[in-house]
Amino acid sequence: MKALIDMTKCSGHARCFDIDSDLFQIDDSGYALREEFDVPSDREAAARDGAAACPERAITLR
Ligand code: SF4
Repeated sequence: MKALIDMTKCSGHARCFDIDSDLFQIDDSGYALREEFDVPSDREAAARDGAAACPERAITLR
C-alpha cells in the first residue's frame, strides 16, 4: 500500500499524526511532511484510520 497526501488540501490538523506518528510525520506547524510513502503491510489498518481521520480528505491510499 502507498499513501499519498495532497499538500494543497492539508491544513495542519495533525489528526493523522495522532493516529500514527511514524506513518504520518508532520512539521512543527502540524502539516504533513511526506507527500508520498509506502505503508508497511502490518500498518495498513493505521493508515486507513489516519486517512479517515483527516477532515480535509487529503490522504489517499492505493
Ligand atoms: S489530518 Fe489531514 S489535514 Fe491534518 S495534517 Fe494530516 S493530512 Fe494534513
